[in-house]
Amino acid sequence: MPLLTLKRCPFCGESELGSGWSSQDPYSCYRVRCSRCGTEGPAECEGSEAGSSWNQRAGGYDESLASAALKSAELAEIEEKKKQLRKDITEKTKALAELGDN
Ligand SMILES: [Zn+2]
Repeated sequence: MPLLTLKRCPFCGESELGSGWSSQDPYSCYRVRCSRCGTEGPAECEGSEAGSSWNQRAGGYDESLASAALKSAELAEIEEKKKQLRKDITEKTKALAELGDN
């Protein structure tokens, strides 16, 4: 059996993909799962089929969509840093004001 190369996740572009048994559907039992966003491919009873089903579905992977998702993750990170900096500034301004009072 040739080793199947799995396509990147169609939603986040992740290339680290896991696979596992599906607990939800007792009739179809194996599926590929994205380790970053948790997207699951169609469930199949053969691991290799789960892989090719995933690839079929991932065929519509949209580079711009994925980079947009990455960008929004980066933006969220920047927003978080801004929040931290604002807090930092508030605290330092307060400390400075207290120093000025003395
Ligand atoms: Zn993903």
